[in-house]
Amino acid sequence: MQLISGRSVVVSNKKMTFWEKIYLPAVLNGMRITFSHLFRKKATIRYPEVKREFAEIYRGQHVLKRDEEGRERCTACGLCAVACPAEAITMIAAERKPGEESLYREEKYASVYEINMLRCIFCGLCEEACPKEAIFLTKRIVPSDFERDGFIYGKDKLVEPLDPLKRIDVSKRETKEVLEFKKDKSKRHNQ
Ligand code: SF4
Ligand code: SF4
Repeated sequence: MQLISGRSVVVSNKKMTFWEKIYLPAVLNGMRITFSHLFRKKATIRYPEVKREFAEIYRGQHVLKRDEEGRERCTACGLCAVACPAEAITMIAAERKPGEESLYREEKYASVYEINMLRCIFCGLCEEACPKEAIFLTKRIVPSDFERDGFIYGKDKLVEPLDPLKRIDVSKRETKEVLEFKKDKSKRHNQ
């Protein structure tokens, strides 16, 4: 037989034995394997009644972080959008007006920031690219839905709550080592 790849395969013309013709040993062997799995620990769980515990550094739904004073850290530089291989991020930049210093940390901020969760592959490159420690992936799952429109996540879903008690903890991802690495201008990643 000639395959598309060009490699040829030799087909066996070996005659079947009596036991192979009646299939009984093969059926019994199949049942033996099936029954042996009945008593093993199951790899599956009864989702959604039972939920798995995710690792602290699981890459799930994004969060746009605020600083210690509650100001949005994102400065709408667009680096996350450029780094995104799925082109899932869009934003509109705006200039901070006098009196808005308590809302936005930098002079420029994202008036619109959207992530298309249907495009996102949760690779985490946006988080790596961000020079302002503004975007992080979290272990929260993006819920399923019947409508596509609901998967465009805007700032209402992405920016973390102002209430300090309801902030999203990203300490497992925002480690000292990562911060040090990002400061190192000799690394191509940080240029
Ligand atoms: S996690 Fe990856 S695919 Fe998703 S928005 Fe960030 S860079 Fe894009
Ligand atoms: S999240 Fe970070 S990389 Fe993306 S626009 Fe805001 S500051 Fe820039």
